[in-house]
Amino acid sequence: MSDCIFCKIVKGEIPSKKVYETDKVYSFHDINPEAPVHVLIVPKQHISSHNELSEDNVDVMKDIHLAANEIAKKLGISDSGYRLINNCGADAGQTVFHLHYHLVGGAAMGSKIL
Ligand code: 5GP
Repeated sequence: MSDCIFCKIVKGEIPSKKVYETDKVYSFHDINPEAPVHVLIVPKQHISSHNELSEDNVDVMKDIHLAANEIAKKLGISDSGYRLINNCGADAGQTVFHLHYHLVGGAAMGSKIL
């Protein structure tokens, strides 16, 4: 999508600190990190949110989850642990409407979800 900030990052039109890339997935450091490790994982294809996943595009979820495993290993938080978070829609605080997963870790976060 032409006005999507994450599509522009995937295409290299907006700079990012790349962490990992496959043919279907791109990952980069969040510009405003909320944890010692805070990385975003996005499909290269524009999917606006988790709501827009369907039989036609859900295969990319496999790539996103396998990418998360590789990124956690690469950044040294695979054993200590991490969260993989998707915000879907306004109440969840989604601000960028291109499907993305936050991979956060590097510090103990406790067991509460909110
Ligand atoms: P959301 O609130 O939609 O789940 O998360 C969007 C995330 O994208 C936020 O954590 C925000 O800091 C990050 N973000 C927004 N714009 C940019 C950008 O231009 N570059 C990078 N690296 N991260 C961004």
